[in-house]
Amino acid sequence: MDLLHVVIAVVTGLVLGSFYNVVIYRLPRRLSPLAPRSFCPSCERTLEARDLVPLLSYVVLGGRCRFCKSRISVAYPLVEAGTALGFAVLAARSGLGWEWAFYALFFSLLVMISAIDLSHRVIPNVLTGSGVLGGAALLLASGGAPLSLQSAGLGLLVGGGTMLVIVLLSFGGMGAGDMKMAALMGFYLGWPGVAVALFASFCIGALVGLMLIILRIKGRKDAIPFGPFLALGSLIALFWAEPLIDWYLGYLYLAP
Ligand SMILES: [Zn+2]
Repeated sequence: MDLLHVVIAVVTGLVLGSFYNVVIYRLPRRLSPLAPRSFCPSCERTLEARDLVPLLSYVVLGGRCRFCKSRISVAYPLVEAGTALGFAVLAARSGLGWEWAFYALFFSLLVMISAIDLSHRVIPNVLTGSGVLGGAALLLASGGAPLSLQSAGLGLLVGGGTMLVIVLLSFGGMGAGDMKMAALMGFYLGWPGVAVALFASFCIGALVGLMLIILRIKGRKDAIPFGPFLALGSLIALFWAEPLIDWYLGYLYLAP
């Protein structure tokens, strides 16, 4: 592990995470991510540069807007810290390079899609579509280092296809956005990683759904956005697919 790479990854994650917050807020509202400059969602006053330092501004301001003192959502520092953490773990694993860029882009998409699905119940096509294109470009640039283009394509078909069947069977519980996200996951995780990711997503989704119903936070008929569960399943596959597959194969062959 190269400490300098990890430090650069953390700083990059904080800066990009701050930009992802802008995308998460503006994309579902059909606002440009580039203009106008960042503003407070409550009083709409333009923020100053000192209010835009990732994590630090939130702490210094005590989680409130400098002008109108309304609360700033804790989601903002969480997205910044989460992106930095993800980038750092990836850098510790492979160092900075094409492989890191490939998975850092995937991680970024998971963060933005989860946050938008949680707050607006949509998975924007522009994120899933450009995610596959960007991933394909990085795969070609890397000479297929993290995974082959064939494996990525097979994963995309398996992820999208499996989810298409589930969308059709769920009668409106899941939508086209979930299918496109599963195809995106398949592209980045390849085969058999995508199978691990989908299986983990459904296990976590079922458990959390059951808990929300038992705790009476959600009713039996309430829809729960599935994007965040697909993202969690993806992270499990991204970091633990190989040991999980080894364990499962060992279980199949060695079980008495
Ligand atoms: Zn304000």
